[in-house]
Amino acid sequence: MNTEQSKFSVLRGRRQEDFHVENYTTKPFVFNGKQKSVYDNANLSIFVNESCNANCKFCVDQLRFEGKGKMFVKGRISDDEEYFARLEEVLQMLRPLNTSISITGGEPTKSPRLPRILRLVSKYNFRKRVITTNGSGLLDVVAGKRIIDHIVENEFHHLNISKTHYLENVNAEVMQFDNGYFTNEQMEEVVKIAMSGNVRPRLSCLLLKSGVHDVEGIVRYLDFFGAMGVDNIIFRETMDYDRSAMHNLPKLRFLEENKILLNDVWSQIDLMPEKFKPIVQVLGYYYYCEVYKYQSIDMVMESANLAAIDPQKAKAPDTVFEMVFHPNGNLNGSWIEDEDVLLHYAGNSCISYSNRIK
Ligand code: SF4
Repeated sequence: MNTEQSKFSVLRGRRQEDFHVENYTTKPFVFNGKQKSVYDNANLSIFVNESCNANCKFCVDQLRFEGKGKMFVKGRISDDEEYFARLEEVLQMLRPLNTSISITGGEPTKSPRLPRILRLVSKYNFRKRVITTNGSGLLDVVAGKRIIDHIVENEFHHLNISKTHYLENVNAEVMQFDNGYFTNEQMEEVVKIAMSGNVRPRLSCLLLKSGVHDVEGIVRYLDFFGAMGVDNIIFRETMDYDRSAMHNLPKLRFLEENKILLNDVWSQIDLMPEKFKPIVQVLGYYYYCEVYKYQSIDMVMESANLAAIDPQKAKAPDTVFEMVFHPNGNLNGSWIEDEDVLLHYAGNSCISYSNRIK
């Protein structure tokens, strides 16, 4: 084992114990009259739509709610003009922080609001602009252009696409689409358009016993999508969460039965330094990543523990680690719109939990 790998294994073993908020640089910022410190690498996520045309057995969006014993049902501003006025107000306010921006859902490519959101984000020229999607709407034509063309035209930097397996039948078994399944053929077309427009595609693969589950499968995945020109791929361990709060038994069972531990995969990868060149480790407040080079591909491997979020925040209550703009107009330090509210919105056309049908 070389020195770099030894360093990897030390931090890998300790993870969150080694996360010390005081070691991170922050910027002062006032939200609603309250002084906060915003983590330098904080990201602003725009959670575009509350629904998704897939029903992945592992869905992280749902897990963030269900892992706290809550229902995944989100409120929203129903009037478009009111929604865009609120989004612009928040973007204007946060522009001095110049965060990275990530557009997400639900499934953002299926929202009719997306082209206008892309234009608005581009107008404020935040330093890094990313969209995360299951891919299914990227070739849909909206306002005279394919969604992928809107993304290119608005100079997004990264296009994150979730794809659990390179074999369509295995992928379709886990990513269960109601409509608009995103095929590998469409992926190839999208990758070409994105790369020729300077948008870098990044594929995200969740490691599962029923899917990609070992180094051999990882290599096949890398080779398959690498041949399309993809040079950035992330493999994720299923997120850990508070099991006692989880009431969705089919999901709980699926996650328990399908868990692949990255520690096991890493112990194999450590033995192949010529194949996987270790580059860097990143420790965040609830996640930990290792970055490797595999041929010309940047390969990231990430594990995260949702149950670590609240204890970390409790240690640093005035620190904002990330921000989420929710469909109901709230800006939060949380993926749940009634938690850690930084800027509350009480507009005219907000549909609340109680009168909205899932
Ligand atoms: S594509 Fe993403 S948001 Fe949609 S169900 Fe799957 S994990 Fe959830």
